[in-house]
Amino acid sequence: MHALLTIMCKISLLIYLIITSPSIANEHSNHSQNAHVHGLAQLTLAIETNYLLISLTAPAYSLVGFEHRAQTPEEIAKLNKIKKTFTEINNIITLSKASCKLINTHINMDALLPLTNDVNNNHTFHTEHTEVIIDYTLHCLSLTDISSAAVTIFEYHPNIKKISAIWVTDSQQGAVSLTATENVLSWQ
Ligand SMILES: [Zn+2]
Repeated sequence: MHALLTIMCKISLLIYLIITSPSIANEHSNHSQNAHVHGLAQLTLAIETNYLLISLTAPAYSLVGFEHRAQTPEEIAKLNKIKKTFTEINNIITLSKASCKLINTHINMDALLPLTNDVNNNHTFHTEHTEVIIDYTLHCLSLTDISSAAVTIFEYHPNIKKISAIWVTDSQQGAVSLTATENVLSWQ
């Protein structure tokens, strides 16, 4: 586990360097990687030796249609449904020919969950935007034979219109925009 944590720290640093790098920032015109725009999600794919880390950040509005804390049974049901679909990685991204095993899934939709009564008493309703963040960690026997993945989330969540993707390997990095019709993320 320690080795994995070290890799994740290193990858976080690489991603930070890429996001702040002027050359790649220019490819996104004046658009910040972290801007919250409904319909636009951010995807990061990082490879180091046998680990593949995939992280998706999407506006909650584009997934469930609201960004406040769930209040009605219908809203809570929507959150449960979406959480269930994201436990299946193929509903977001599909790797061809890869001998990879999903070893960790983390779905963060905390800001959409109802507060407990105790906290609720002190809670003022906020109108800020809210995002859902999904992280997958895969362990792969070999990552040398794959260099692309199909992003499938557009099929299941048509309100996601565009994804700003960045990828990082041991030796290279890049950024690309993906849509329903241009949904293949290639690296190398
Ligand atoms: Zn929003």
